[in-house]
Amino acid sequence: MSILAVLEQRPSPGGGPEWNRMSWETLAAAQQFARELNQPVSAAVLGHGIERLAVELASQKLDKAFALEHPLLASYTPDAYASALRQLVAHTQPSLVVFPHSYQVRDFLPKLATALGRVAVSDVVGHRAAGGNLVLVRQLFQGKVCADFRCGSPGPNFASLQAGAYRADQVVSGSASLDKFAPEIAPGSIRTKPLELFRESQRAVDLSAAELIVSVGRGIKEADNIALVRKLADALGAELAASRPICDAGWLPMERQVGSSGQTVSPKMYLAVGISGAIQHQVGMKGSRTVVAINKDPDAPIFEIADYGIVGDLFQIVPELIEAIQKAK
Ligand SMILES: Cc1cc2nc3c(=O)[nH]c(=O)nc-3n(C[C@H](O)[C@H](O)[C@H](O)COP(=O)(O)OP(=O)(O)OC[C@H]3O[C@@H](n4cnc5c(N)ncnc54)[C@H](O)[C@@H]3O)c2cc1C
Repeated sequence: MSILAVLEQRPSPGGGPEWNRMSWETLAAAQQFARELNQPVSAAVLGHGIERLAVELASQKLDKAFALEHPLLASYTPDAYASALRQLVAHTQPSLVVFPHSYQVRDFLPKLATALGRVAVSDVVGHRAAGGNLVLVRQLFQGKVCADFRCGSPGPNFASLQAGAYRADQVVSGSASLDKFAPEIAPGSIRTKPLELFRESQRAVDLSAAELIVSVGRGIKEADNIALVRKLADALGAELAASRPICDAGWLPMERQVGSSGQTVSPKMYLAVGISGAIQHQVGMKGSRTVVAINKDPDAPIFEIADYGIVGDLFQIVPELIEAIQKAK
């Protein structure tokens, strides 16, 4: 019985491979599961020309680090990834394999699990150990219900973990033996032809990587007032985000929407300005380390998850906050 974390890398704009930030959250979770279940934990990275990442992986507290190297893994394809991981799973016989819930994993994980006659539990937000077994928790019905999924024995069980559900800074470093694992991949088995990687336009933002976020909701009243919250974000060096009605109205672009139909974020600080905290919004930001809320309604649901709350009129509080931040600089 063992736990295997499969981490994700992709070519950086500079050319070499770089980690997907969620990889470290996945590794932290796998180490935590292993501690609680008293099982060994290993981790794997797939690609081509990934020696630097493999060495970095081997400097974490793991039983083994696996580097799955193959020229046909240089660019992501679901066929090559599923085939390589199937071979690694057969070789290592893990009871649980965990992945970051990235777009790539969403693409190939069902194929991998189904090929082994298993299911994958996606977008896991938490867990508990029960009688030597692991119970994974995921949300259903837009976050209204939490469902428990008991890992079967002997496995393998497959799960992807929601961004922000586990904390990357809790990865325990150490040292692991590095195993180079060369999967057999037949070129004819790959049915898709990777083209150039999609790169978002300059204006597009990856809020999931932001450390500070100032997020604005319908309390801002009209489009022209967004400038006030933008000024606060600039003063803090934060990204600007919003609740859905703001993006639906076109006051900010869709890429800035946080929530069940927007981005999932896990910054160090999430400052919610005039946001009620509807469940569809909360599911996208409750992984934030510290939540600060400004709202004139003391009963707004956002205060249930806020670490710090200011009850009052944002049009009075935000200018004072900007002034105080500028003075403190
Ligand atoms: C299928 C589905 C998917 C959805 N996906 C998302 C999603 O991804 N993201 C998302 O955000 N929503 C989503 N929603 C919408 C969600 O249900 C809420 O309607 C939305 O989050 C509310 O946005 P809000 O908090 O900005 O507005 P409101 O709920 O209207 O809240 C405005 C808040 O501002 C406060 N306020 C007003 N004036 C002031 C003032 N002067 N000073 C201080 N505070 C003030 C009010 O007290 C209130 O709490 C989804 C809904 C559905 C059905």
